[in-house]
Amino acid sequence: MKWTKSLIQTLREDPGDAEIDSHKLMVRAGLMKKLAGGLYTYLPLGMRALNKVQRRVREEMDRAGALEIVMPILQPAELWKTSGRWESMGPGMFRVKDRAQHDYAMSPTAEETVTEVVKGIVSSYRQLPVTVYQIQWKFRDEIRPRFGLMRSKEFLMKDAYSFDTSLEAADASYMAMFDAYRRVFARCGLKAYPVEADTGDIGGKFSHEFHVLADAGEDGIAFCDGCGYAANLEKAERRVAARDDAPCGEMETVPTPGAKTIDEVSKFMGVPGSAFVKSLVYVADGRPVMVCVPGDRDVNEVKLRHFLDAKKVELADYDTVLAATGANAGSVGPVGPADATLRIVADQELRGARGCITGANRDDHHIRNVDLDRDTAIKAGDYADLVVVRDGDICAKCGKPLVIKRGIEVGHVFKLGTKYTDAFRAVYKNDSLEEKTMVMGCYGIGVSRTVQAVIEQSHDRDGIVWPASVAPYQVCICLLDPDRAEVAGVADELESALESAGVDVIVDDRSERPGVKFKDADLIGFPVRVVVGAKGLEKGGVEVKLRREDKSKTRVVPPADAVAAITELLAGC
Ligand code: ATP
Ligand code: MG
Repeated sequence: MKWTKSLIQTLREDPGDAEIDSHKLMVRAGLMKKLAGGLYTYLPLGMRALNKVQRRVREEMDRAGALEIVMPILQPAELWKTSGRWESMGPGMFRVKDRAQHDYAMSPTAEETVTEVVKGIVSSYRQLPVTVYQIQWKFRDEIRPRFGLMRSKEFLMKDAYSFDTSLEAADASYMAMFDAYRRVFARCGLKAYPVEADTGDIGGKFSHEFHVLADAGEDGIAFCDGCGYAANLEKAERRVAARDDAPCGEMETVPTPGAKTIDEVSKFMGVPGSAFVKSLVYVADGRPVMVCVPGDRDVNEVKLRHFLDAKKVELADYDTVLAATGANAGSVGPVGPADATLRIVADQELRGARGCITGANRDDHHIRNVDLDRDTAIKAGDYADLVVVRDGDICAKCGKPLVIKRGIEVGHVFKLGTKYTDAFRAVYKNDSLEEKTMVMGCYGIGVSRTVQAVIEQSHDRDGIVWPASVAPYQVCICLLDPDRAEVAGVADELESALESAGVDVIVDDRSERPGVKFKDADLIGFPVRVVVGAKGLEKGGVEVKLRREDKSKTRVVPPADAVAAITELLAGC
């Protein structure tokens, strides 16, 4: 491919709306162009990288025995009504009508569709297990589309679905996908860590997300160096030591005028935040509940929702807080709320807490010397793990300290059980001809997000540093004297020889200064740069350099040996 025919546009300036490096670089290197918020056109270079990631995904899915299909993007509403998700997906799902006013979803995912499809084909245990996959565009009306391809409204996903005869058999399908995911990401040159993830409404411990560590990641992940435990903060647990608080005197109400947050009250009273019990009123499936956590901790709403066995939890509004407690949100606490029937739950660390400070359920007042057992209605069964873990917390598995890092979720594997196969009555006949429900798993890879994650993990000041397996072109030949036929001839010959050797190559044949060509080659990040120029050829060779190495490592190779030298270098990146 010749640069002058390639529709490459590189930019010197960062796009104004880009917050993270990979987003800036994708636009500056001419991989993609924004059409509107969360919507991008993949330009030829970006399309090549996207295709390469798809190729790696296909190869590993096929190797794992999964079968490729492709399902419609438009999904009839009836399918979503059968699973109950037409309502529960809420405004995050794009919905359209046809001319006959029939409703459709624009696929945010495809559990419903695939269950309907497989149910119509599989009738006997002899046809199971089966795993199907597709690489198809997905649509989600994200609250905040941002970071380029990381969180877009339209994105390319590989979604796979396994169907098995039993829970045990489904475990094997899950593990096969888990292993395939490790291979996919490794082959894309990515270091991706499997971490335990929340299983949502399904329950069980079978859900892993694959995360690429990056400061720009939207998820927090707790890692333990001691035992290898890794979990999304939504789920991560910690060990707490039993307290041995000394008995305290009688409760005492103190005025705390104008101090609302724990920080303000703690400054006002001159005691650390940890001496406080932070109390928040939530509404869980329509009913208010007070949640108490140590003053320097944050409530984990996912854990709270599971503990309360609720579909939805959200912070209560002003009126609800007032009716439940008798005060505004800054002064509420577990001692004698206005609504004596208000359910109060508390984090496990507060079990046996004495001598603490809580809101007084009276505006601008707090209470000192609270003994939670003595002075509140919180019962033994109301304590649970309800907070977000933080750096230095103790690993629940091995007792070593946890470290918190940021991650980008590039994949997710999930054991679904019979949630969808029950709803769709997707059954098979076993060897005694009895009808049994199929057991499902689902497995997603954000293909477009993965392209950008590769860049987020592999770039430097000058631009992208592509791993050879997903680079748009593996080699860029910078032709320094395009007007001199003998020099251009050497570049052409090298181009065809490399293509014959299965290497993707682009020749920068523009009439630009060498500096411009080198800058662009570094910005786009081709793994190998070859300089072909009159001066070099006079000295007997072409210059070959790896993008990730500096200039001092440049090799001068006779044109006849260049293909061998380049393929050897590519094998190592
Ligand atoms: P997130 O927590 O990032 O919103 P999710 O858990 O909702 O993602 P899944 O339903 O598990 O996403 O989808 C499978 C994969 O699709 C994710 O692991 C992620 O890589 C990718 N993905 C999800 N939403 C988006 C998006 N808006 N833009 C790009 N990729 C996405
Ligand atoms: Mg997910």
